[in-house]
Amino acid sequence: MLTAKEIRDSFKQFFESKQHAIVPSAPMVIKDDPTLMFTNAGMNQWKDIILGTRDPEPRRRADTQKCLRVSGKHNDLEEVGHDTYHHTMFEMLGNWSFGDYFKEGAIDMAWEYLVDVLKLDPKDLYVTVFEGDPKEGLERDDEAAGYWLKHVPEDHIINGNKHDNFWEMGDTGPCGPCSEIHVDSRTPEQRAASGKSGRELVNQDDPQVIEIWNLVFMQYNRKADGSLEKLSMNVIDTGMGFERLVRMLQGKHSNYDTDVFQPIIKAEEQITGLSYETYEAQEANRANGTQEANEAQEQVNVAMRVCADHLRAVAFSIADGQLPSNAKAGYVIRRILRRAVRYAYTFLGQKEAFLYKLVPTLVEEMGDAFPELKAQQTLVAKVMKEEEDSFLRTLDKGISMLDKAMEQLKAEGKTELDGEQAFRLFDTYGFPLDLTELICRENGFTVNEEQFNVEMQKQKERARNAAAVENSDWVEISHETHETHEAHEQVFVGYDYSEYSCHILRYRKVTQKKNEFYELVLDYTPFYGEMGGQVGDQGVLVSENETIEVIDSKRENNQTVHIVKQLPKDPTAEFMACVDTDKRDASAANHTATHLLDYALKQVLGDHVEQKGSFVSPNTLRFDFSHFEKVTDEQLREVERMVNDMIRQDLPRDEHRDMPVEEAKKLGAIALFGEKYGDKVRVMRFGPSCELCGGIHATSTGRIGFFKIISESSVAAGIRRIEAVTGNQAEELLYHMEDMIKNIKSFFNNAKDLQAVIQKYIEEHDHMKKEIEGFQAQAVERTTKRLVEKARNVNGVTVITDVIPMSPAAAKDLAFKVRAAVEGSLLCVIGSHDNQKPQLTIMMSDDMVSDHGLNAGQMVREAAKLIQGGGGGQPHFAQAGGKNADGLSAAVDKVIELAKL
Ligand code: ATP
Ligand code: MG
Repeated sequence: MLTAKEIRDSFKQFFESKQHAIVPSAPMVIKDDPTLMFTNAGMNQWKDIILGTRDPEPRRRADTQKCLRVSGKHNDLEEVGHDTYHHTMFEMLGNWSFGDYFKEGAIDMAWEYLVDVLKLDPKDLYVTVFEGDPKEGLERDDEAAGYWLKHVPEDHIINGNKHDNFWEMGDTGPCGPCSEIHVDSRTPEQRAASGKSGRELVNQDDPQVIEIWNLVFMQYNRKADGSLEKLSMNVIDTGMGFERLVRMLQGKHSNYDTDVFQPIIKAEEQITGLSYETYEAQEANRANGTQEANEAQEQVNVAMRVCADHLRAVAFSIADGQLPSNAKAGYVIRRILRRAVRYAYTFLGQKEAFLYKLVPTLVEEMGDAFPELKAQQTLVAKVMKEEEDSFLRTLDKGISMLDKAMEQLKAEGKTELDGEQAFRLFDTYGFPLDLTELICRENGFTVNEEQFNVEMQKQKERARNAAAVENSDWVEISHETHETHEAHEQVFVGYDYSEYSCHILRYRKVTQKKNEFYELVLDYTPFYGEMGGQVGDQGVLVSENETIEVIDSKRENNQTVHIVKQLPKDPTAEFMACVDTDKRDASAANHTATHLLDYALKQVLGDHVEQKGSFVSPNTLRFDFSHFEKVTDEQLREVERMVNDMIRQDLPRDEHRDMPVEEAKKLGAIALFGEKYGDKVRVMRFGPSCELCGGIHATSTGRIGFFKIISESSVAAGIRRIEAVTGNQAEELLYHMEDMIKNIKSFFNNAKDLQAVIQKYIEEHDHMKKEIEGFQAQAVERTTKRLVEKARNVNGVTVITDVIPMSPAAAKDLAFKVRAAVEGSLLCVIGSHDNQKPQLTIMMSDDMVSDHGLNAGQMVREAAKLIQGGGGGQPHFAQAGGKNADGLSAAVDKVIELAKL
């Protein structure tokens, strides 16, 4: 039996033998495409080739691509764990032809690989072809059907509708008809029992008759207005689910029974003490077990699948640089992790962090094929554990809130939890409805699902309104007089120029929260679009007749998009694109400083330091990196010294554009995990610092001027953040500090040795504070004695009253001292005032409460009205503050009156 690894290798070997270049997987997290957060298919990284904006060579490629289908058009999250063949993260094996072979070549190669190389039985294979769609003006794909007839009998070819057989990446973008290969993997018994042919079960959600390979014939681009535009070349894009293929070849009936998942599931069994049923075991057990036992076991099965699957998705995203967070892609990852925690908590009895314990097994299984995982194992586990811990705390809080709600229901004799409460639990504590229902059911309650859905809908609408960004289609501008170099491509000239003559190639309108602006693409641009943490350039476009301000620029599909408030009156005019060089130079200096910082951190802290994010603007720089404890003040100082030393050496910029990746690696250039690099890379070297980087940099390190760290903090488990300033911002910082010290000195008569003077003041202050406390205690002693001496006796009760200047704390102290000094029944009422603030204090002996039925709290509230105040306390001791000190003696008398002695 072939192992998963052998199968992965055989795919690569086969397509290599067919002249395909074997290329690496792109990162799973996408950073420069607003229409897509995660890679959901192998073709994503080739989108710009397919759209004709990037060089298609080499025209035949193949790879295995990490995909994640948890958001947007392709979202399988809710299926995962409940079925046995959809994953959140999975590997997609793919081969591409960019204007090389088309339908016939793709079909022949797929067939050869599955049947001749891997020996799948052709009797079990069915293929689908697009049946056409009159509304789109598309006909049946007779061409593909014709090529299939070379390999399969007519009754193994099935017509499919637009939903199944017209592949689209998202709402817009490349698309085309497709042809899928399905495998009937039923056992002979199942075939006999069902009485249906494989053909009848294709695309019917039968878990044993599933699609494994989709051959997409890209011919169109779907535009924002819904129309289809023909692509400039035909593209073959295929995707085969690796885990599904492994299952077919290993003769299994569930992806989770293959060697891709079994080691992880075994680890789960070991930790939880529960056992997982493979497909075969389940078939056997079903017959013997009671229905209840079967259901309980099935919950364990589902939970183990969910955890095994989500572990991969979360670990790979973290390794790709996407940490769980509150927004966008980070939030999606957080939700996946929380889904796993819930299943483990509810069905696997894991009340403490669990997933992170599976990381070593995952790394052992996949670390060789995906080195980014192995290199960052410690970080991945740390981040996961912290996320799990924090969600488990939230779960606990939510559960106690739910307990209270159920108690209340019980008291009111109700049995249904209202949907708003359930929604609040969902919204604030991440409790999905099914968990709330489960807990309620265990306690004999139900949940109003309808109300919950109404609330959910309301929230969705709120979110939609807040986030809505509308892009209209790009409007192409034709330039009759001007020869643009190539129809669509933009040339970036910003590494060499800050001004350049240009034309607008296309523009579109963008509406966001009622704000309107335009995005422009130029044929030549010196503008650097936001990328790799460096903010986009600002500047102007100047033509003979007008000047347009560029407020920002960003990077999209490898092009700079210029953001402007209004369109030029004549968009066909020739423009001079001018970058604001003050801002750019400041950003460039900060960017270069982050490289020096990265280098110095590795020297001072060690090689485990990996860049985890950065932000570079004209004013400041921020650098996030993996490190597992606080960086000490000494270490920070050492880093600063090292960076400033490199600045003073005025190391020149040594830039290599278009260097082959291998050569760059030999130079020791640092690459980032989760970053997409082509075959040719740009290397940026300043003395010992050498990185792959596409950013704008200072011409030499001396331009940075001076580097000063302003903070070091934690951003997440295992990730630290350094913020720093350079150049004139560092100068400003110095002035600010100098001014502050001058001011402080002036408070101390411009003392020469400021530290010694402040030290002396502090000592004196502490000394005086102690002395005052001593005097106060003595005063209280004296007053106690005086009050006890002048006490009255009213019907056997010692009554003490007085109005004196005193702090509230001292009054309390006094009241307790009086109580200790008086034997027998006591009623002591003290009106004190401190800086015009009146305070009423009542102290009684216990028998006044138990025998006389008095309550100091109630009495103080009543009497405090006379000082315009309020308060309360215990039955024997209470205090109230107020506003009107003149009412103090009346308030004291009022208390005595209320006591009715
Ligand atoms: P399905 O109908 O089974 O969800 P699909 O039509 O969404 O599949 P494609 O978008 O054509 O699948 O993706 C190409 C291949 O990737 C599929 O043939 C399948 O083998 C695999 N695949 C798709 N989704 C998943 C998933 N969630 N988990 C594992 N493999 C998948
Ligand atoms: Mg699908």
